[in-house]
Amino acid sequence: MASDDHDPEYRPATRAIHPISLASRDFESLATPIYRGSTVLFDKLADVVDRRRNPEHYRYGLTGTPTARELALRIAALEGAHRSWLVPGGLAAISATYLATCKAGSHVLLPASAYPPNRELGDGLLSRFGIEVEQYDPLIGAGIAALIRPDTALIWCESPGSITMEIQDVPSIAAAAKPRGVPVALDNTYAAGVLFDAFAAGVDISLQALTKYVGGHSDMLLGSISVREPAMARTFGTTLEQLGMGVSPDDCALALRGLATLNIRLAALEQSTLEVAHWLKQRPEVKNMLHPAFPDCPGHEHWKRDFTGSASLFSIIFRDWSAAQVERFVDSLRLFKIGYSWGGVVSLVMAYPHLVRPTPEHGPRLVRLNIGLEHPADLIGDLEQAIMKANS
Ligand SMILES: *Cc1c(COP(=O)(O)O)cnc(C)c1O
Repeated sequence: MASDDHDPEYRPATRAIHPISLASRDFESLATPIYRGSTVLFDKLADVVDRRRNPEHYRYGLTGTPTARELALRIAALEGAHRSWLVPGGLAAISATYLATCKAGSHVLLPASAYPPNRELGDGLLSRFGIEVEQYDPLIGAGIAALIRPDTALIWCESPGSITMEIQDVPSIAAAAKPRGVPVALDNTYAAGVLFDAFAAGVDISLQALTKYVGGHSDMLLGSISVREPAMARTFGTTLEQLGMGVSPDDCALALRGLATLNIRLAALEQSTLEVAHWLKQRPEVKNMLHPAFPDCPGHEHWKRDFTGSASLFSIIFRDWSAAQVERFVDSLRLFKIGYSWGGVVSLVMAYPHLVRPTPEHGPRLVRLNIGLEHPADLIGDLEQAIMKANS
């Protein structure tokens, strides 16, 4: 069992350090082992050169551990991708997508409903590097063609949009981009790679915050980037290698565990969320139900055509509450916790007092809810008591 490194002649300090390496072939479990490692060992010096030539080989922890690669392969299988990569979070997947596809002087189109940090990246860091990010109406559809310029390097879609939940006509946007040679990237976090088939819709790059539904328990951060074509895979491979965005094997193991229950969690969350949303919709205090499965949701017809279901996230706009009433409502909730992110098992609430969408008048009366796996009747009871307090 002991390897050469465990010669009893070695002093205890040496013997304590070198791994004994019990043969892993004799032990097979259903769980992917958590392989930690920065240094990856080579048998002989010639192997270093060999493995450099083939990026699929293990060389260094940053370019992949077996745990990370197992997760990346499973995400690729889920999304029907040619190749997927893992990065430290959804926002890292967004920034890496800009860096892989753009250069100084590039023009990018981003829906005005996009995840706010994506918009801040466009206005901030990217503008310093001479990349111009122009926002467009998320419901523009085929009309995007008129905004595409010779220097347009990337078109973003995010459907539904963050907070305001507009469902985009992604197939029409992709169809307009294709003949002009502009890649389309979709932030597919809401659909979890399950509820919307990005590549069938003509998207080139599909990314997810695995932090949300794949992780599913609010205890880790990871992002994925998936591409349809080998040429795009080469572009991303080179960029990601240079960016040094490594991921923790522990987080990958949590995501692998999450994947095992993804489908049943999504199904349960969909049912609970619809039940809570239907209850809220009949409340006189609620003006709009911004849930993709409700006709009030802008782009609802695209959801009906393109999605196989809905998830746990939606927003409501209260009819005529003051800012103080909205705040009292949020603060009175007990089961719904105040916090960012979504897709876990605990229900969450967030308000956006400075939001100017869908209109400056509605923004401060918008509240976003994430439904968790609590019993929906308890969640409805919690909402009811908070509405009473806000009304009083
Ligand atoms: C949460 C979120 C992200 C960012 O994910 P992190 O893992 O938190 O960085 C990106 N896009 C959307 C739509 C999100 O909701």
